[in-house]
Amino acid sequence: MLGRVVSRVGRAPVARRVVTSTPGLRETTRRFVGGADAPSAVITAESLHEQGLRTTLHLRAGEVRTAAEADEHVRAYAELATRLASAGCGPASEISLRLDQLGLHAPGGWAGAVDRLHDVVARAADCGLFVTVDMGPEEEVGRTLAAVAAAREAHPSLGVTLQAALRRTADDCRMLAHGGSRVRLVKGEHPAAPGTGFAEPDEIDAAFLRCLAILMDGQGYPMVATHDPRLMDAALRLAREAGRKSPEWELQMLLGVRREDQRALAADGVRVRVYVPYGPDWYGWFVTRMAERPANLRLLAHALLSRDELRATEAV
Ligand code: FAD
Repeated sequence: MLGRVVSRVGRAPVARRVVTSTPGLRETTRRFVGGADAPSAVITAESLHEQGLRTTLHLRAGEVRTAAEADEHVRAYAELATRLASAGCGPASEISLRLDQLGLHAPGGWAGAVDRLHDVVARAADCGLFVTVDMGPEEEVGRTLAAVAAAREAHPSLGVTLQAALRRTADDCRMLAHGGSRVRLVKGEHPAAPGTGFAEPDEIDAAFLRCLAILMDGQGYPMVATHDPRLMDAALRLAREAGRKSPEWELQMLLGVRREDQRALAADGVRVRVYVPYGPDWYGWFVTRMAERPANLRLLAHALLSRDELRATEAV
């Protein structure tokens, strides 16, 4: 309920004006977003790399409904790849994108999106970067997996995201746990239909653990994306039990969330990758994060009251 209110208020033009123009608030938003353009995102990535973290950068540039908008996303990701390579971020950085950004819902549909995916992955590979495909709502899962399978024929390193909240995911994990296959496991941010998904948090956690065990026991490269301390501990234990050393799997978290844990785990030798959203629609991402976790609003309140953010009780 509070989340819905935050989402509605946050999207009002006046809220956007306040958040983007108040100096203290700008600092707080920068905690969760990598900036409004590629050069800022690369600077954010470099600073995270200096702290022993890895990054995956994700463009936020609004909905894609036309082929021209999808082509523009390809150009933007190509520019990002070039900038990351010039900054020497190659091995530490990668790109995360969604199939709808490449035109899944534009004229040309799936086939056009697959062609563009080939283009982005090829350009990223030239720059020494991997790409991982994010997963959208349930109705897109089959088409996304088919697109990844098609692109993997030329680019086997292309990663994909699977959502533990879907019942099909354990089977998808088995299918994708082969050598060289990069698979990111998440709880899933989209509600699933009752017959095909899990709704209760305990059920989703149990499904996550089952999927995690399959990936850790397999031959692929598991990317465990969660901020849930119990699931992070389980990942560390299962990796140990499967005999996986640090470069044979990784943890992933969002920029600004559990920052201390990110740094502490990296200092302990765990490979930790931070998901860095950036781009002209960074504000939409920021509001979604606030609505998802209204406790984060405490940070905004402190910033508005001109207190030192570092002294604020951290919500995350
Ligand atoms: P939760 O139980 O939601 O959170 C555990 C704890 O983490 C919370 O108690 C809180 O302390 C902290 N926390 C979690 N989220 C936040 C937040 N936003 N702000 C502050 N604290 C927070 N979902 C998809 O459906 N498709 C994708 O492609 C996808 N890609 C992702 C990539 C990465 C790198 C990450 C980290 C997540 C991704 N997600 C994706 C989102 C994911 O599905 C979950 O919705 C999200 O990670 C929250 O679940 P959790 O595992 O952190 O557990």
